[in-house]
Amino acid sequence: MSGLDVELRRELAAIQKDALLRELHRVDSSQSRCIEIDGRPFLNFSSNDYLGLSNHPALKEAATRAVAKFGVGAGSSRLVCGSLAPHHELEEMLAVFKGTEAAISFPTGYAAALGAITSVAGKDDVVILDKLVHACIVDAARLSGAKLRVFIHNDLSDLERKLEWARDLPFVSSKSRRRILILTESIFSMDGDLAALRDIADLKDKYGAWLMVDEAHATGLFGENRRGLAEEFGVADRIEIQMGTLSKACGAAGGYICGSRSLIDLLVNRARSFIFSTAPVPAAVAAARAGIGVIQSAEGEILRQRLWAIVDLLKSELIKAGWALPPIRSAILPLLVGKETEAVSIATALRARGVFVPAIRYPTVARGKARLRLTASAAHTAADVTEIVNALTAAKTGN
Ligand SMILES: *Cc1c(COP(=O)(O)O)cnc(C)c1O
Repeated sequence: MSGLDVELRRELAAIQKDALLRELHRVDSSQSRCIEIDGRPFLNFSSNDYLGLSNHPALKEAATRAVAKFGVGAGSSRLVCGSLAPHHELEEMLAVFKGTEAAISFPTGYAAALGAITSVAGKDDVVILDKLVHACIVDAARLSGAKLRVFIHNDLSDLERKLEWARDLPFVSSKSRRRILILTESIFSMDGDLAALRDIADLKDKYGAWLMVDEAHATGLFGENRRGLAEEFGVADRIEIQMGTLSKACGAAGGYICGSRSLIDLLVNRARSFIFSTAPVPAAVAAARAGIGVIQSAEGEILRQRLWAIVDLLKSELIKAGWALPPIRSAILPLLVGKETEAVSIATALRARGVFVPAIRYPTVARGKARLRLTASAAHTAADVTEIVNALTAAKTGN
């Protein structure tokens, strides 16, 4: 072994000792309610494919058609080799869907966060983020060079204290004023709870700040037209930067930012993860567009109702089985276990019973807050719910 490998082995051993080692499980089927690992079927309660769109015929057909017409690769960055029609079609649709002037797509949600936050905040600015925002937002905020403040998860008075601090900071710069950017998710990815977007928007106005909301887990699920939690709370037009991913309820891949024309024009000029990265492949954007089409259609409402029926059933069965769950209706059901070793052993016992659920541990969540994160899908059935609840009871008691 080389010197580097010796060091890396030691590091891996330390990760393993803390029950934090992560391993890939090879899946030989599509990502659907049932996946195949090592030739065995597993009931899948781990995917963010909330509406079951990743295997929807309309998305598959859109991807196939895009490959036939536009090929597989995207060639280069859209600023270098020209910008393919499917990207424009997707962005026009996203802007209409979210009710904004414009939209821009990125290869991933991660890239969207990175590009947007570093474009609008710099070293003279302040970024204030919820303690539980996704890693891509944390990374982007750090990379922006702005002064960072983290507020206690969903704690509006703590947010206001941070806003007061930012307002009172002395400002010496050639720029006209300091920007204060508040960053939150709408539905939190590992806890399934929600942000009080209306109150946050009020605070934002009071302190002259800007608001960016990541709707990764809410798009397609909340709001009258399934646009997200901002629509449900009637605050979409008060959010300067709406972000999301096309890889969850939308069933495809990619990230997006929706907002004003000037915001999108600025991102085309400043977002390094847009400028210096090859455009998403035509198949992905075409599938994402078809996914949003399904979400906007009557079928989207039927799928959402189906999802909520599964969520309600799963939740009531889990509570009957003795698990505690947050009160809100969300497709993310975190079963808090605490100890990393215990979360891993329950996940392993579940796999032995043919049920696939991830043990979510540090650094995705805080140390000592390990959990099993169940995600429901419109593709699940009532029998799937019975199966997972029984498997969980058996796994927990070790029977
Ligand atoms: C998944 C996720 C992202 C990243 O989106 P990708 O398209 O998977 O890169 C961003 N924010 C949140 C809250 C997420 O859960």
